[in-house]
Amino acid sequence: MLSCLEAIHFICSKLIPPEVIDKIFDVAPIEEVVGEYVTLKRAGANFKGLCPFHDDKSPSMSVSPSKGIFKCFSCGEGGNIFQFIMQHEGLSYPLAIKFLAEKYNIEIDEGQIDVDELKEEARIKDGVYACLEFAKNHFYERLNSSQDGKVIYKPYLTERGINQQTIDHFYIGLSGTQRDHLLQEGIKNGYTSQQLFDAGLVKKINDDQGIIESNLRDTFLDRIVFPIFSVSGKVLGFGGRIIKKDTKAPKYLNSPETVVYEKRKELYGLNVCKQSIRKNDAVFLVEGYMDVVSLHQSGVDNVVAASGTAFTEEQARLIMRFTHQVTMLFDGDEAGVNASLKHIQTLLSADINVQVVLFPPDEDPDSFIQKRGSAAFHEYVNDSAKNFVELIQEVKLGKNPSDPIQKAEAARLVAENIAALPDPLKRAAFISETSNKLDIPERIIIEEVNKFRINNRKQKDREERRVQKANTSSFSDGPTPGFEYQPNYETRNSPNITDNKNYQEEEILKTLILHADKEFNDKITVAEFIFNEFEEEQIWPISEEYSQIFKDAYAHLKEQKVLNELYFIRNATSSKIAAEVLSVRHNLSKGWEDNFEKFVKSDQENYKSQVIENLNYLKLKHIDLLMKENQEKLKVAETDEDIMILQHVHDNLLKIRQKITDQSGTVIS
Ligand SMILES: [Zn+2]
Repeated sequence: MLSCLEAIHFICSKLIPPEVIDKIFDVAPIEEVVGEYVTLKRAGANFKGLCPFHDDKSPSMSVSPSKGIFKCFSCGEGGNIFQFIMQHEGLSYPLAIKFLAEKYNIEIDEGQIDVDELKEEARIKDGVYACLEFAKNHFYERLNSSQDGKVIYKPYLTERGINQQTIDHFYIGLSGTQRDHLLQEGIKNGYTSQQLFDAGLVKKINDDQGIIESNLRDTFLDRIVFPIFSVSGKVLGFGGRIIKKDTKAPKYLNSPETVVYEKRKELYGLNVCKQSIRKNDAVFLVEGYMDVVSLHQSGVDNVVAASGTAFTEEQARLIMRFTHQVTMLFDGDEAGVNASLKHIQTLLSADINVQVVLFPPDEDPDSFIQKRGSAAFHEYVNDSAKNFVELIQEVKLGKNPSDPIQKAEAARLVAENIAALPDPLKRAAFISETSNKLDIPERIIIEEVNKFRINNRKQKDREERRVQKANTSSFSDGPTPGFEYQPNYETRNSPNITDNKNYQEEEILKTLILHADKEFNDKITVAEFIFNEFEEEQIWPISEEYSQIFKDAYAHLKEQKVLNELYFIRNATSSKIAAEVLSVRHNLSKGWEDNFEKFVKSDQENYKSQVIENLNYLKLKHIDLLMKENQEKLKVAETDEDIMILQHVHDNLLKIRQKITDQSGTVIS
């Protein structure tokens, strides 16, 4: 049998046949692929949702099921299902294909992934993922089949109320007791020390020495381990809970950060609970793995934990893709209260509605639901849920409601949280609630809130300036391409060649994507006409960005295959620009949409003249390049004869140029 790594290398030797890719397109609807990561709401024929690729506050991403594309109108990200997976999972194109093939149970024959296409980083990541998957299975087997698993650890979990179904559901496992148990098992199964180290499964004994077997030991020793999954269900790392009491080792231990595991971006339980979170449009945020597992077992399955880290903005945004309602379930002790206060502000600034439930002393959500059941749990949650104003009031003024110093402190804390709210209406509502509850005039609270807002703004400005300063040297030339497929004749009448070197090629490509298979005359299609012109006039696109797309399309056409919209959407090189051209803004007002319909219609009728016009601009660009070249030669020409010839060339080019501009009815300076 092949080891996992040999298998990867083996698969990485040839190209994936187009039939396989087409099959994936056929069985993996874009709304389902994207919907794994983002809650999508219907908007006419399309869906919309929060874009996962930028800090999106209102839904900017549009997903078109009929075309199979997604497009963010804010950051410009877009493409087909594979682009989405590549971006989101950080995978190369072949690995994105493999990812979706596995997900949809489509067999990829051995020998179907091109090894040259695998970027170094993607290759490392793939090795790390494979190691983690192996470790997950190994730990799980150990808990369920080994002697100490059966005799010591399973009974321990049973005692804590965790049943077999839950163990299976969360893939709970057991690490080894010897210091190099997993290291040896991993090597036996074809993984290298380096890979196990990169995956965070082993660590160095002596930091100054290298990654060699003798200097490595297992990260997790003698622990119950909880695999931490990505939102799409890949193992990223582990959380381990110690069981022996007579040890100095920490009770909980997490995998270190690795190339695949960034703690601040992940939430424990999200992959298992996301459907339920969506269905309930609400989520419980708890402190630890055991809380998630235990609540889930008791039927409260819309629950996640931010374990191993303070709650971050990234985690708030991750939650927001599924719901805007968060109820935090925390211990009622001082540490729990302080932790919850920190989380609140992060959630509020992401425009999430937050409620907090503190549990009685000596109880946590896990123990509470185990002892009293889910009905009592829900009742308790409903009765004791508080918003942040009520929470702060209780925590700061519980014993002495009229203590002036405590009151001022409470007011300040509330104001700081109100200032984090992006929505002015919500701010106003909380200001008035605070004024009532703390019996402080609204005007004073407003002043306090404003102080915090000004401070926050200043801090943000400083950060932005810092980022900008760091980035100024790496700004690319030209504007970021956005969605602008509108008949903007003003720009077309004055194409500025130096401004954007690919403008003409981009326009002709857009025309090709929109109209490739339509007839140009009764003999040939638009695509055939365009490529004929390219050949005859020698105006093949030359830009790095687009030339490959044209070449691929031409090759496709020459194989007697249909060249149409679908080709450009599904082809890896062109799907991003296809998404841009073929997406319609979802947030258009009704009136605008009608106009857009009209535009699309007139666009459909005018496509022939558009083809000619855009080809003319491309010709002009090439002539200008030739003229420039000629001018350079003129500058250094030495003999009269040379000068005469070059002058002649110049005049001829000028004439051709004039002819084209006349034909286009365009005045070009
Ligand atoms: Zn975006």
